[in-house]
Amino acid sequence: MDPYEQLGVSRVINASGMMTALGGSTISAATGAAMAAAGQQQVVIDDLQRRAGADIARLLGTEDAMVTTGAAAGIALMVAALVAGSDLSRVEALPDPGDAPHEIIIQAGHVVNFGAPVRQMVALGGGKARPIGSANQVHEAHLTGAINSTTAGVLYVQSHHCVQKGMLSLERVIALSHAANVPVILDAAAEEDLRHFANCGVDLVTFSGGKAIGGPASGIIAGRADLIDACRAQLAGIGRPMKIGKEGIIGLITALHAYLNRDLPALRAHQSALVDELLSAFNAIPGVRTQRLEDEAGRGIERAAIELSPERALDLARFLRAGTPAIYPRGHLLNLGLVAFDPRPLSPDDVQKIVNRVKAFFEGE
Ligand SMILES: *Cc1c(COP(=O)(O)O)cnc(C)c1O
Repeated sequence: MDPYEQLGVSRVINASGMMTALGGSTISAATGAAMAAAGQQQVVIDDLQRRAGADIARLLGTEDAMVTTGAAAGIALMVAALVAGSDLSRVEALPDPGDAPHEIIIQAGHVVNFGAPVRQMVALGGGKARPIGSANQVHEAHLTGAINSTTAGVLYVQSHHCVQKGMLSLERVIALSHAANVPVILDAAAEEDLRHFANCGVDLVTFSGGKAIGGPASGIIAGRADLIDACRAQLAGIGRPMKIGKEGIIGLITALHAYLNRDLPALRAHQSALVDELLSAFNAIPGVRTQRLEDEAGRGIERAAIELSPERALDLARFLRAGTPAIYPRGHLLNLGLVAFDPRPLSPDDVQKIVNRVKAFFEGE
């Protein structure tokens, strides 16, 4: 029985990457089985959260960690921890920060929308985003000049959504902020190198469980023990509507263990072969020009792209989405005329369906 079909919801082929809007990752059979088993028993949730956090911290090499519903919740909780700490009256008053310092400094090119605005997640946690510099250029003086007695922390967004030039590096932001005793929190939602970002010197980092890790809709916050305590304290406040269930926690832990043990060279070789297959099939279509694209945020991901005029690129993307099953190519570069296909979520069967539909588009003219 297909549970989606029962509701009349059709499946789609996701060639756009790890998109939350298309259901995030597909979980493995092992993760699914662990979640089913977890759902059929009862445990003390506090105990589960603490032990899951300790397990994640051990895997990532941080002092402590906790499980959330996602990286968006992670941003709100990290901000709340900086603004209210573990003080119950402050926790219960959020998102009203009272007289606590609550400005969250963020580089202008990091004020992005990942499906919802980063600024709003900051506000949910009682913070007030204070953008510095311009969308294409931030200087160190912007950061140092913005730090004052109302500053609660600096939020760094590591993402393909951000402006990729003219921003201060994570390393410099950490050095300058820490020199002024200001904590740095990091949104690394879709990043693949978890251990690197967990140990780069930030005070807290958040990751999506449903993107690179391949788990269910979930997320992680990892970092300093005192601040993780303060994040957990928010479960009695704004964290309550972001509560994750026991099966979500177990699903994330199971997926995380598998992710950190994955054979990366083999995986990359497999993805590279899928890109090769797409490119050679596209190249065999008369008049089609292609490109092999490196990831815009330097994550070591390759994608196959078809190069067209911007209008034709939009037409092709629309055509693919309108078919059955609907195919979602990567839309980020459509305005440059590039219709890209991300190999990560694709099965070999999906690749064939994509090739057939792309052929149909070009033969239809
Ligand atoms: C996806 C994403 C988020 C939100 O993550 P969820 O796990 O879906 O809540 C936040 N920030 C960035 C940069 C993202 O790409």
